[in-house]
Amino acid sequence: MTVPTRRSESDASESGDRRRRGGPVGLITALGLVHYGIEVAVFEEDDQLSLDTKAGTVLTRTVEVLDRYGAAQDVLAASLRIDEIGDIDRATGTARASVYTGALAGDTRFPFVINIPQHHLEPVLRDRLEQVAPGSVHMGHRVTGFSQSADHIDVTVESPEGAKTVRGSYLLACDGGRSQLREALGIAVEGHTLAQRYMLVDLEVDLDEANPRDYPYLAYFGDPREWMILVRQPHCWRFLYPLEPGQPEPDRAELTAKAQRFIGDVDGLRVLGTNVYPVHQRVANRWRDGRIFLMGDAAHLITPMWALGLNTGVLDASNLPWRLAWVLRGWADQRLLDGYEREQSPVAIRGSGEMAEAARAYMDRRSSEVSAMAGGRWGVAVTRSLLGVRLDVDGRGDWSMIASGDAPQPVGTGDRLPDVPVFRSARPGLAA
Ligand SMILES: Cc1cc2nc3c(=O)[nH]c(=O)nc-3n(C[C@H](O)[C@H](O)[C@H](O)COP(=O)(O)OP(=O)(O)OC[C@H]3O[C@@H](n4cnc5c(N)ncnc54)[C@H](O)[C@@H]3O)c2cc1C
Repeated sequence: MTVPTRRSESDASESGDRRRRGGPVGLITALGLVHYGIEVAVFEEDDQLSLDTKAGTVLTRTVEVLDRYGAAQDVLAASLRIDEIGDIDRATGTARASVYTGALAGDTRFPFVINIPQHHLEPVLRDRLEQVAPGSVHMGHRVTGFSQSADHIDVTVESPEGAKTVRGSYLLACDGGRSQLREALGIAVEGHTLAQRYMLVDLEVDLDEANPRDYPYLAYFGDPREWMILVRQPHCWRFLYPLEPGQPEPDRAELTAKAQRFIGDVDGLRVLGTNVYPVHQRVANRWRDGRIFLMGDAAHLITPMWALGLNTGVLDASNLPWRLAWVLRGWADQRLLDGYEREQSPVAIRGSGEMAEAARAYMDRRSSEVSAMAGGRWGVAVTRSLLGVRLDVDGRGDWSMIASGDAPQPVGTGDRLPDVPVFRSARPGLAA
């Protein structure tokens, strides 16, 4: 995605394409830039809507960011609101204490999480972007190269009309985990890849009325042998569980049988979609190269546990647009942009990264390894993490998103501001 200051002749005639989409981080970042009055062009190499079964839960902090960028209402209208997050022992079927997100009511106007599959979210974001910046999304446009100078960047793009060059102020690489731009810049992603893969299955089945099961719509079934996560999507039920190394990908008949062992004999069960994917915990060792910034999965591959994959990318999309706006308006010099990596890299490594690893250990019931959730405080830990922001501004080395303890804690420098009454006015206030 580029942020053009002016367009080349060859780019000026591009027409609208109703099938536009893009990665969620690129689209949300573009909405943020438009919110600050910056012209954007989003380039997406695919030319049709993706039906990939990927992210499914959007956390509180992401809803706040979407609200700031004017997209929350559209996204909420397409989502299921979740107020209870279940914690169930899979082996015994015993329910532990649920997390009730209403505990966040003093901190945010959105004290809940939402379930929406990524392939439903992306068109909503694209449509919103089309409303506020018509013609900004360019489908079937693959970014193939760039050349930077002191005051601009030229991006080469392969399009249905042929190769073209687009000039912009910055290039934001929101091109996913296999980022070609990251590779072209020679930037490594450091960390590890799990031996396990995760298996995701979308099932069409009525567990509400025809076969009532009374599961919370987001439920974590911990088990040292095989944990399971159950997510009620607006159109289906989603199961996620680990595949051990060497374990072959089950076919649809095996998945149906497995689902029936889990939820019992039910009518009308149908496998809608599946996805098997490797699980990484890797972060780029550099997030910026001159006028190019890495964002989202291009910058970090977080274990998608407790929805920290996409939602960590949205923290990037919250951090960079206002910095670019301030610099482009002449209110700050280029040094303001350095704060993006300085803040977001530790958030990915130590905030989301720590949380995702703690979640994995918790699901495997390796409880002794999860100090953040000791003493029955997992609810506090999880609930706070939904807000997803903490910056080590005072340099004490604490980037953790996890605030343990049951009592409200004083707000320190670098902490997220609670949602104070300034938000009750018609316009968002300074705390956004
Ligand atoms: C199976 C699965 C389940 C997941 N579940 C969750 C979850 O529940 N919660 C969660 O938070 N996260 C989850 N994640 C992670 C989440 O899907 C990713 O973090 C998210 O997609 C990252 O968004 P992104 O925009 O950075 O990258 P992407 O979604 O990968 O988007 C990148 C876009 O860039 C385009 N592109 C690539 N190269 C180019 C190029 N050269 N030119 C133009 N366009 C290009 C691609 O076509 C793509 O559309 C899951 C991931 C998977 C695989």
